[in-house]
Amino acid sequence: MANKGLSNIKGVSKQDKEMIENIETMMGPEPEDMGLMKNVFWGRFREDLVFPYPRESKEERDTCDALLEELEDYLENEHPAVEIDQEEHIPEWCIERLFDMGVMGMIIPEEYGGLGLGVTSYNRVLELIGKHCASTAVMVSAHQSIGCKALVMFGNEEQKDEYLPMVAREKLSAFCLSEPNVGSDAAGQESFSVKTEDGDYVLNGEKKWSTSGALSGLFTVMCKNMVKNPDTGELEQKGVNALICTPDMEGVEIFEKNRSKTGIRGTWQARIRFNDVRVPKENMLHKEGRGLNVALSCLNYGRCTLSAGVTGAAKAAMDQGIKWAQTRYQFKRPISDFELVRQKVARMSALVYAMDAMLYMMTGMLDRGDKDIMVETAITKVFCSHYGWEVINEVMQIMGGEGYMTEHELERSWRDNRIHAIVEGSNEVMQSFIFAYGGKKLAEQMVSVQDALTWDTDEGISDNLSRILTAATNPTVMSKALPLAGQLFMGIKPKAPEVRSVHPALRSQAQTLSTLIQKHSHYFKMASKWEREKIVEHQAQQARVADNAIYLYAMITSLSKMDDQLRTGEYGPEFERDRAAFEYLFDWFENKIHENFGQLRHNADDSMRKAAEAALRFNDTLPNKDFYIHEGSPLGRDAGKETPTEHIKQFPGDGVDPRTQDRAPGETDELELEDVPAASGDGAPEEPKPAAEDGVA
Ligand SMILES: Cc1cc2nc3c(=O)[nH]c(=O)nc-3n(C[C@H](O)[C@H](O)[C@H](O)COP(=O)(O)OP(=O)(O)OC[C@H]3O[C@@H](n4cnc5c(N)ncnc54)[C@H](O)[C@@H]3O)c2cc1C
Repeated sequence: MANKGLSNIKGVSKQDKEMIENIETMMGPEPEDMGLMKNVFWGRFREDLVFPYPRESKEERDTCDALLEELEDYLENEHPAVEIDQEEHIPEWCIERLFDMGVMGMIIPEEYGGLGLGVTSYNRVLELIGKHCASTAVMVSAHQSIGCKALVMFGNEEQKDEYLPMVAREKLSAFCLSEPNVGSDAAGQESFSVKTEDGDYVLNGEKKWSTSGALSGLFTVMCKNMVKNPDTGELEQKGVNALICTPDMEGVEIFEKNRSKTGIRGTWQARIRFNDVRVPKENMLHKEGRGLNVALSCLNYGRCTLSAGVTGAAKAAMDQGIKWAQTRYQFKRPISDFELVRQKVARMSALVYAMDAMLYMMTGMLDRGDKDIMVETAITKVFCSHYGWEVINEVMQIMGGEGYMTEHELERSWRDNRIHAIVEGSNEVMQSFIFAYGGKKLAEQMVSVQDALTWDTDEGISDNLSRILTAATNPTVMSKALPLAGQLFMGIKPKAPEVRSVHPALRSQAQTLSTLIQKHSHYFKMASKWEREKIVEHQAQQARVADNAIYLYAMITSLSKMDDQLRTGEYGPEFERDRAAFEYLFDWFENKIHENFGQLRHNADDSMRKAAEAALRFNDTLPNKDFYIHEGSPLGRDAGKETPTEHIKQFPGDGVDPRTQDRAPGETDELELEDVPAASGDGAPEEPKPAAEDGVA
């Protein structure tokens, strides 16, 4: 049976078809073996992928433990986390310190000067940094998970020899995917490169939000690959390129180094213009036109380290929040006596348990080289960013007014960790992705069966009859069609998958999981039947299916982790907490999944759509000039309210290297180029200085 792909579904708008095609191109070919969660969409459970809970080798763990010990000592005793937030800058000495410890080159192979650690160790380090300082966690992650990860994964020997030692030991790197008009729609690149006759590329365009862009020695730049059509002489896009660029290339202009923001204020996001930059052909990463695949492969790692950072922050917040609840007295008792506070305590503990289980399952899969992991990394990212921040938000509530005060550091974590739901694929985009990519193969089979056996009004009578009769007498088609029909029209579900590999004490949770997986697959098919082609635009329904996949992944990974804890004979108060958290998680998420099943059939989506329509219509009557409007809006840059800069910290720009400046703390006006003192000279790392003396960039 020919697989037509999902972009051929009838009744789907042109824009949606294009979006599906873009996603299919970005994904590249499907891995041969379907990963864990795609199987769950089919109602199957690949026990071999999750049991036993993955573990690093003892040698790897010991190496990482030694690094963690050194790093923790630094983070607790020297790292100026408060100052970084207040001054909106990570001092150069901190970055050098991290380079010296090897933290900035953890994932780079030893032969290039890195530590050559695995993904699990790398994420353990990020979790520890996230516990102390989210700005630093994001800077470290932007450098290694996305900034130079493409070079590590796709670079050839010459490229690695040339650049990896630098990014392992001296200089930051930046990932340049986003643009003023390219946010969630990563495939819509406007920057472009054109191949010259000698095979080099000329790059033009503007990049936005490149974390550490103004501080980096290397950029991974994504751009449209424009190729001349030999017949017409016109330039045509042939995919996307991923190019290595360096700030010293002629035509590279860093015209904005940073903007003041809500959280992770120590990180800097640059705007970079590429004006006719000649990029040697040797700087092409992977293959011409395969840059989006490069970018997405990097994002898998970014989504893990982002999750590790917020998991660290959530764990720290939870411990603080519970301690507060036990020691803050109101109504003549600790507030932890109240059930609504206890509910928060229980939820935090269940969520943190699941975040941890999911994260290190994910890193274990990456370490052992599993190929089909994009759904799982997306799930981990959505779960950890959403619930990690929710944990911190609950602690803010538990701590009351004091939680809102700067001194207790919780408010910094609350601001810092809000970003994760927006970046590296916003959570809404990820929900649609989890639905579409998780269920893609199953949906394709359903569409194929339907195409083969149903009347097509675009075809003539004889074509229709001959196709349907051929399909109806084809055993392969019918072996798929009959069970599907039985399920869709008579509610006959395929057998629930077996979950056998668990510790005997976990049999009841294994049974729950098995039934929920069976039902998840059933409801995915039923929702596709109820919604027909509208499912492509009905994102609220997609989100229910995606959320259920997310809850199931949390349950699966938690089951595996608890299995491991039981088998290794863990005991004591920490284990008791984990066990109770795990049991609550199962009960809680089972309820949430059932709620979503119910809402897939009976929901308020129709009136939701009408309410949204009406609100949008009303808003159309409000003058644009009273509101902020995105700079890339088709309405034009000046359509909205002017953005104020007065009293908002401005950062030095215009080609000034912030790492060579000497400014007093709190000094905010933009500096002229002439005001900048010469760079410190010989390039030798300076002795670490207390942050207060180091000043702002
Ligand atoms: C602090 C920071 C650091 C960053 N670092 C980097 C970096 O190092 N390199 C880099 O390339 N980029 C970076 N970015 C950019 C970041 O990846 C983008 O902000 C992100 O991709 C979202 O794009 P956007 O902000 O333009 O939001 P938009 O695309 O405008 O989306 C706004 C919102 O619209 C909704 N939305 C959009 N599309 C859909 C959809 N299809 N379905 C449902 N809802 C949708 C979502 O709720 C989304 O949050 C950074 C951004 C920030 C703020």
